Amino acid sequence: MTALVAHELYRFFHTGDDETFALRGVSLALCAGEFVALVGPSGSGKSTLLSCLTGLDEPDGGHVEVGGMRLTRRSEAERARMRASHFGILLQTGNLFPHLSVRQNIRFQMMLAGKSDEARVDALVETVGLRARAHAFATQLSGGETARAGLAVALAADPPILIADEPTAEVDADTESRLIDHFETRRRAGLTTLLATHSGALARKADRIVRLHDGRVEDD
Ligand code: ADP
Ligand code: MG
Repeated sequence: MTALVAHELYRFFHTGDDETFALRGVSLALCAGEFVALVGPSGSGKSTLLSCLTGLDEPDGGHVEVGGMRLTRRSEAERARMRASHFGILLQTGNLFPHLSVRQNIRFQMMLAGKSDEARVDALVETVGLRARAHAFATQLSGGETARAGLAVALAADPPILIADEPTAEVDADTESRLIDHFETRRRAGLTTLLATHSGALARKADRIVRLHDGRVEDD
């Protein structure tokens, strides 16, 4: 079953006289239970693509379908509703509430999904290698810790589709291998995972690697 489809996405940015072609006709289909790595040099359009796939940004052309329904060109409120029921999202910034601890951030995300499971909070903290930092406020975390805490938040509600933008920028080998196990568990449960990553170890574990270059898919 297809979980997420992108049809010919285009996204352009204008800054003064400069025009950036961030996405130039990107098509992509993710199946339920698939684990896909999105790779490409800095500036190739990975973050722009992930924003469009989750409806956080609207493409200038093309459209996205999630669970068989069009997500693109709907009202902000409709997109937010669809996003909440389909996606767990880790962006490069702004994933945590600064005045909440790591645990509280994870718990809050679960609560939004109508769930409450302290054992799962513990397991997630462990998975992302933040047991010693579980009670630290988001503002007290390093860059790498912030990304991992954000990943735990994105995973909190066991989302049908995880979309994560470079979740493992600064992880040690142990944490990386626990994360790989977690993604493996998601795959077996029929949950979909799309990760923009520079980690060769992670990308090698993926079912498929999608390469972006200059806003286009190189080979899928
Ligand atoms: P990646 O995540 O692969 O590094 P991005 O999707 O962040 O790439 O960026 C793709 C291109 O679009 C880059 O040239 C970037 O500078 C440009 N870009 C991204 N977001 C914006 C924006 N909000 N305004 C202007 N240019 C942008
Ligand atoms: Mg990026």
